[in-house]
Amino acid sequence: METHILLIGAGIGGLGAANALVRGGFKVTVIEQAKSLGEVGAGVQLGPNATRVFHSMGLLDDLLAQSVSPKAQIAFSFEDGKELRHVTFAEKLKQTFGFPYLHVYRPDLLNVLSNGCDIELKLESQVTTVLEEDDRVGVRLSSGEEFWADAIIGCDGIHSAVRSYLHGPIPARFSGNMAWRGLCPGDVARELGIPRVSANWWGPGRHFVHYYVAGGRYLNWVGIAPHDGSAIESWSAKGEITEALRDFSMFHKQVRSIITSTPSTMKWALHDRDPLPFWSKGRVSLLGDAAHPMLPFMAQGAAQSIEDGYVLRRCLEECENVIEGLSRYEKNRLERTAWVQQGSRKNETLFHLSDPKEVAARNSRLQAEVDTNVQQVQPDQSRLFGYDPVNDPLSN
Ligand SMILES: Cc1cc2nc3c(=O)[nH]c(=O)nc-3n(C[C@H](O)[C@H](O)[C@H](O)COP(=O)(O)OP(=O)(O)OC[C@H]3O[C@@H](n4cnc5c(N)ncnc54)[C@H](O)[C@@H]3O)c2cc1C
Repeated sequence: METHILLIGAGIGGLGAANALVRGGFKVTVIEQAKSLGEVGAGVQLGPNATRVFHSMGLLDDLLAQSVSPKAQIAFSFEDGKELRHVTFAEKLKQTFGFPYLHVYRPDLLNVLSNGCDIELKLESQVTTVLEEDDRVGVRLSSGEEFWADAIIGCDGIHSAVRSYLHGPIPARFSGNMAWRGLCPGDVARELGIPRVSANWWGPGRHFVHYYVAGGRYLNWVGIAPHDGSAIESWSAKGEITEALRDFSMFHKQVRSIITSTPSTMKWALHDRDPLPFWSKGRVSLLGDAAHPMLPFMAQGAAQSIEDGYVLRRCLEECENVIEGLSRYEKNRLERTAWVQQGSRKNETLFHLSDPKEVAARNSRLQAEVDTNVQQVQPDQSRLFGYDPVNDPLSN
């Protein structure tokens, strides 16, 4: 009899895992609390570690048709707009690892995944309780309805109910930062002279990132600035352009003109968690932000969830039973995702330096990287982007 897996949550992680598992011959049911599938209208960067999974699932062409590949990655001085580092990053990654670095509009990414295979999807179904018996596991919804299967994977995000079931209701850590997000119309951005690159502007205690998505229809931007968190009641909320502009008033006019040319903005309180000691217990496990919520400073949360889904499929395929499979999955994912969680925290320090001596040292290091290493892939980048969830040997 085929193994039946319940995936709780239909975000990028849940739908990525559904695609991997259905292709592996598993019976999958995805349970989602929202009325319809949707992602926040913003961008996401996907490196070769994630795009190789799309290739292996036959979805890379669909993804490429909707994405933008940046010509270069440029770090700008936040004050005068001078280039601190300019590397042809995407091209080098493609040459080295064989798969592209892409900028994708999140609703497009979700479409590619939801149309990628036949998924049994239960919408408007909020999981409140995990249920366990000797040889099966289930969930109870707020409606009282129950679903039972061989395994449950909590793909239900940073505030995961399944994670609370395994580890207790520990609140996420507020990072002290808020993310402003916006989509500037692509035509307007091109009139402002914004090139097709991945741009980073690093200032004291804050930074600003932008890149084109949706085939150039929008310039996606994210501005990270300090915040006490008190005024943000929810995980994400509508913000005011004037407020965002105030947070970046000391930045170069190109940044300010991107903000003022954007019709509306959203603000997100940025939370993460420490790496968990375990993800799997019996027939229950975790995936994506439910397992390893991270700050977006390596642009890897979604990519790691795509890796998770494929490794989960392989572990379940290669093990005698589901319990062994989930334990092997955890073993193959814990260390890597903890490394990315911790690296994302470290990048905050690097991006947000304010001491003039430290800033000068960082900027001359960036310059030296260009002079000596123009097209080199750094060791950490090899570890990040060279990882192959489809073919790398699994540990037992
Ligand atoms: C500003 C910012 C920029 C980012 N940039 C990048 C980037 O460039 N690259 C990258 O790889 N990552 C990036 N990330 C991270 C990425 O967005 C997340 O890691 C990723 O979206 C997590 O996907 P997920 O499916 O695990 O969780 P989620 O997207 O949170 O999905 C969880 C789903 O579960 C559902 N759910 C929750 N509770 C229940 C319940 N009880 N019952 C049923 N359903 C439930 C929710 O409705 C939701 O649909 C960024 C994040 C931020 C904040």
